[in-house]
Amino acid sequence: MLLHHSLKKVFALVSTTTASSKGSLSNWVSTTTASITTSSSSSSSSALYSTASSSSSSSESDTGAGILGKLAPSAKNLLFDVPVSNNGGRARIILYKKEIPESECTIVTPMDVGGLRSEAYRAINPQGKMPALHSHTTGLSLAESDTICRYLLSEYSALAPSFQPDNPVSNEIARFHDLYLTTIQTCLYKPGPPFGSMGSRKEALQEYSKQLYLIANLMVDDDDEGPYMCGKEVSLADATVFPSIVFASYMFPKFEDFQEKENSQSQQRQPPIPKKLEEWYQRMIDTDSAFQKVYNEIMGGLSEWNEKGRWDSIWLAGVRDTEPGTLFDKIIAKEIPASIVKEDDKILAFQDINPAAPAHVLVIPKDRAGLTRLRQATPEHYEILGRLLVAAGEIAKDEALGFGEDARIVINDGASAGQEIFHLHVHVMGGRQFSWPPG
Ligand code: 5GP
Repeated sequence: MLLHHSLKKVFALVSTTTASSKGSLSNWVSTTTASITTSSSSSSSSALYSTASSSSSSSESDTGAGILGKLAPSAKNLLFDVPVSNNGGRARIILYKKEIPESECTIVTPMDVGGLRSEAYRAINPQGKMPALHSHTTGLSLAESDTICRYLLSEYSALAPSFQPDNPVSNEIARFHDLYLTTIQTCLYKPGPPFGSMGSRKEALQEYSKQLYLIANLMVDDDDEGPYMCGKEVSLADATVFPSIVFASYMFPKFEDFQEKENSQSQQRQPPIPKKLEEWYQRMIDTDSAFQKVYNEIMGGLSEWNEKGRWDSIWLAGVRDTEPGTLFDKIIAKEIPASIVKEDDKILAFQDINPAAPAHVLVIPKDRAGLTRLRQATPEHYEILGRLLVAAGEIAKDEALGFGEDARIVINDGASAGQEIFHLHVHVMGGRQFSWPPG
């Protein structure tokens, strides 16, 4: 209650921020205050708001601690974040929805202390990632979104809503999100792997979608029970998942071909974002101003990424395999017979129809993924190239196939090097003496 009263007092002091003229980041910081301030203008509070941006021009000789101390010194807490960040988005939803005034928590950016790699920022978040929170009053520094959110919820527990309704599924959804979505979300926008534990972008996108379905199944069933994920009250689940759905709903359409073609034939192709989640997401944008505000912040950043052609060179978004198919596609589809010696979800190995040695097996990727020839390989292909070579090595020692102690393993890269079929393949040959140089 004490806190509640003191916050009420603070509300009375805080004014609507005047727009800053110090660049877009400062403008964003200023804009964010507009919806969390509640009373009319007062000169003292305007001074408060100008501190975050003015301190960013600190002299280079400032130490990390010095810069930090000057950054919005009147605020109790600093939240380091940027508008496009979906991780920090959940903390911003909490700030906006609880109407926590800027004097309690001011949003700044890592650039205000020299960037993610600066000494000052690393002192706050040793991971060098966003978001981070620093308390001017206690000196506490916190990294990691969920931890920061729980700190804010506990620190401002007197301000409604609690975000922690009496439904443990809220925590389950938030944890599922962080364990299974956050860890692979880079597949939506990063130029290359790794995508968490997923070997390829396609797999990561499929896994992302699968996890969205699992989360949708945890939500309350009926719209009448909502409007939020866990019922009538907003919860940490809503704040955690919403920013990621802004990303997913914007980016999945760019990857419309990511699902396996075979799947689309054998079963009904389901949308990457489940309808239930899509409806909840739209409802949040339409009916809740805090969610709408974070939606606008993230979308502003994503539109900028789009204008800069961020996805143009990303596999399955801008870049696709448009070369004509080969007879290997027919062998993969079992439309042309072949003597298959090894097969899994990614690779196929079969006897060469015109063997150049007593033992001669071809190992190919089932999904060519642009690999008409080896020189098309990019970091997107790390996983499949490893799978092909491991399979080739296993085949090369298979005595039942006629292989002996040694083998010749060849990839022809281009017509003048002997390549006839433009679908990457590894020749594994054995059972005889090989000479060098090859012809
Ligand atoms: P490249 O010359 O492109 O490096 O290798 C293509 C290989 O595919 C050749 O060794 C050729 O004998 C083999 N090949 C071509 N057509 C067929 C086919 O219909 N079935 C099988 N099993 N191998 C084929």
